[in-house]
Amino acid sequence: MSNQNNGQTLTSLEKLNSGQVRHDWTLAEVEAIYNQPFNDLLFAAQNIHRQHFNPNQIQTSTLLSIKTGACPEDCAYCPQSGHYNTGLSKEQLMAVEEVVTKAQQAKKNGATRFCMGAAWRSPREKDLDVVLEMVRQVKDMGLETCVTLGMLTDEQAQKLAEAGLDYYNHNLDTSPEYYQQIITTRTYKNRLDTLQHVRDAGINVCSGGIIGMGEETNDRYGLLQQLANMPEHPQSVPINMLVAVEGTPLGEVEKLDSIEFVRMIATARIMMPQSYVRLSAGREDMNQETQTLCYLAGANSIFYGEKLLTTANPEAEADMQLFKRLGIQPERREMDQEELIQETPKVEEQQPAKPLFYDATKTH
Ligand code: SF4
Repeated sequence: MSNQNNGQTLTSLEKLNSGQVRHDWTLAEVEAIYNQPFNDLLFAAQNIHRQHFNPNQIQTSTLLSIKTGACPEDCAYCPQSGHYNTGLSKEQLMAVEEVVTKAQQAKKNGATRFCMGAAWRSPREKDLDVVLEMVRQVKDMGLETCVTLGMLTDEQAQKLAEAGLDYYNHNLDTSPEYYQQIITTRTYKNRLDTLQHVRDAGINVCSGGIIGMGEETNDRYGLLQQLANMPEHPQSVPINMLVAVEGTPLGEVEKLDSIEFVRMIATARIMMPQSYVRLSAGREDMNQETQTLCYLAGANSIFYGEKLLTTANPEAEADMQLFKRLGIQPERREMDQEELIQETPKVEEQQPAKPLFYDATKTH
């Protein structure tokens, strides 16, 4: 690092913190960002965040598990894997009508994006046809759509794009080096290939990872390097804290220091300045102060609802109260004028304020 600074020459660290959109990060650079003094890290991340986003708005997505459990993959953290006995009850693929009803409720309560997750290695063609119909109908409601279905072929990605899919979620999970400790049933390259098919089809990429799985800090740098060095940064980057589920191989892993988690969020924000950084699974283990630090570090998206696929999510009410205390507004989706007129009740029809969000657990 250069310490030569005559007032005009930037030090190396200042350059790294500058918020330049890059795709050629080295591990040493990621390490330098991640390990700088905490206050400097947060200051840099918040500065960059403000250049691209309203710092007082958080995007909220509702997540619905449309097919649960019995997955043939062996992801060591996942209670949905058929390889582990976690007591999770399995559910078949839901009917289109049922999913549409839940999406309607989500929209009514303020969600901007509806995410549908299925525990598959990859979708079978007949199942994909059902999901395509779900995407079409949810999209027609004016909601953004996102699905996570496992590995995709090029053709499957094209079909999803034609159905109007906005985002496809497929996480890298960890660094290429640590990956074999976590999953043996598919390769890192399989994951990168699926993401390439998604990008080629013109669908936005949602891809991130999980920390607190017993990895070294080097693996965290490696994960961020992989994400940020993609040809385009993923539009959405979920950063998950491991939820250690009894019965999975990671059920007993020691809990991660929350300051490390905040460092991860801030480093993601600095390296991928224009992406939504999502505070994802593991929020229920964080106190409100840690979540607040994550927002300060540039997290600007959350899953809302008590169920995040199969793990608990903080009480919906607690989220709203925290937003209120922090002066944060949930991001509204852009509506066209006609939709706005239809949606805005006349003064005499206006009801007392309702909860802003959809709580998936109340409708099961
Ligand atoms: S993370 Fe996804 S692919 Fe892996 S076991 Fe769970 S549901 Fe299956």
